[in-house]
Amino acid sequence: MTDKPGRVYLIGAGPGDPGLVTLKAITCIKQADVVVYDYLASPSLLEYARKDAQIIYVGKKGGDHTLTQDEINLLLINKAGQGLEVARLKGGDPFVFGRGAEEAQKLLAAGIAYEVIPGVTSAISAPAYAGIPVTHRDHTSFVSFITGHEDPAKENSRMQWDIFARSDATLVFLMGVKNLENIVTNLVSHGKPADTPVALVRWGTTPLQQTVTGTLATIVEKVHQAKLKSPAIIVVGQVVSLREELAWFDKKPLFGKKIVITRARAQASGLRADLTRLGAHCIEIPTIRIQPPQDNTQVIEAIDRIQDYDWLVFTSVNGVKYFFDTLFGMGKDVRILGHLKFGCIGPVTKERLADFGIISDILPRTFRAESVVEAFAQTDIQGKKVLLPRAKKARTILPEELTKMGATVDEVTAYETMPDKDAGPTLISLLEKKQVDAVTFTSSSTVSNFMSLLNPAKAPELLNDVIIASIGPITSDTARSFGLNPAIEADPYTIPGLVDSLLTHYTKEGLA
Ligand code: SAH
Repeated sequence: MTDKPGRVYLIGAGPGDPGLVTLKAITCIKQADVVVYDYLASPSLLEYARKDAQIIYVGKKGGDHTLTQDEINLLLINKAGQGLEVARLKGGDPFVFGRGAEEAQKLLAAGIAYEVIPGVTSAISAPAYAGIPVTHRDHTSFVSFITGHEDPAKENSRMQWDIFARSDATLVFLMGVKNLENIVTNLVSHGKPADTPVALVRWGTTPLQQTVTGTLATIVEKVHQAKLKSPAIIVVGQVVSLREELAWFDKKPLFGKKIVITRARAQASGLRADLTRLGAHCIEIPTIRIQPPQDNTQVIEAIDRIQDYDWLVFTSVNGVKYFFDTLFGMGKDVRILGHLKFGCIGPVTKERLADFGIISDILPRTFRAESVVEAFAQTDIQGKKVLLPRAKKARTILPEELTKMGATVDEVTAYETMPDKDAGPTLISLLEKKQVDAVTFTSSSTVSNFMSLLNPAKAPELLNDVIIASIGPITSDTARSFGLNPAIEADPYTIPGLVDSLLTHYTKEGLA
């Protein structure tokens, strides 16, 4: 026990789209000592948590071993009682059918301070992402949020079916998929017209969103045919007919495409953000882990001798990051680099360097020998000393070409890439269930590391109908050497180029 009072924040984690979360929620997650979350909360919010925070899963998913509500209450009370700040993430809004209020009551009774951070409820946002506004003045004068969970056999039901049936309200049922038939029967038997439009929206606001529409007369059969399951929102009312006009999210060009991203997790965010914006469902299977070299003396010694160099050339964002990490770690700053000229390979590396206040003097577009030669041919490289901080075991084209042009090149190991095998089982299970449409490769090493996650004998069959998308010719060659056949090759050989090529591929397919 400490003297510092603990506190529980009951936080709305939104409906699934990680962008649908409040600034206040993020601030709280960043500060929390303990993060407690359940099944529906968007897992990517956990990335905001402190590295040393305790992350506790208490969710409910069929068959999982999880805590009862009483045990969850106790956990929150215990952690806060130890003086810790607890972020309790709850799907959607904590006070909309989320038992948030019950948790608050228990905290109050135990003398634990709490705050509520409202969230974007699925009751409104899932319909909105399906193009269904829950109100529209031409169609309805009010909206109701109703539990769809109530046991139909329950005596003294609080469900006012006659009122639901009589009004022109939009009825939004949560937790109702299993009870759909019962809900429909009650509404119709209390006088709701059988042609009233109905929609079910599953996993609303996520790339897995699935929508089924019909009327009270047809919806049960349609949902059965579509095999739509929980979690879904059921919307009943004339507003559902607006979907035909207002649908937007499921019209995105890559909507429904399940695309594997193979970069190291720390580097995947740009590619993931771009593809997600286009509607794709991104599955991160990091195949390499990037870390500082075991022995950092090469970089340290080079920085100590930095006055001897004329050029500093970076071939990747990692080279930039780890070089500056070491430099700052030595208590130095960018002023010691003032006499140097800089080269960066690729626009993203150049941007990363600019983050440190340095504009690259030259920018070969790619790693290919011709690009490098062409770019350096315009410079005074002859007879100059070049420092090249890069990955251990990096390719030799660049130092060879620069040496041919009369430079002296010192290669130093600024970082290492290690195979990351953790995601292997997940990958195999997704491929077996045919839940992957495309795999993206952003370097030769992502190809070889990816293939090392699969059994070579089974790989061809597992990848049979999967589209292989490569960032450029070198990566494609490596893919072919493993028996893969890239259907997509980026041009230009950059992440935006790769995204564009995927877009073109699927847009053409859509037109075919
Ligand atoms: N507090 C939550 C609701 C919790 S009850 C909120 O405000 O959204 C759980 C029910 O919410 C599920 O059975 C389902 O009906 C609904 N739900 C939650 N997330 C959903 C989503 N992404 N898409 C559709 N329905 C969702």
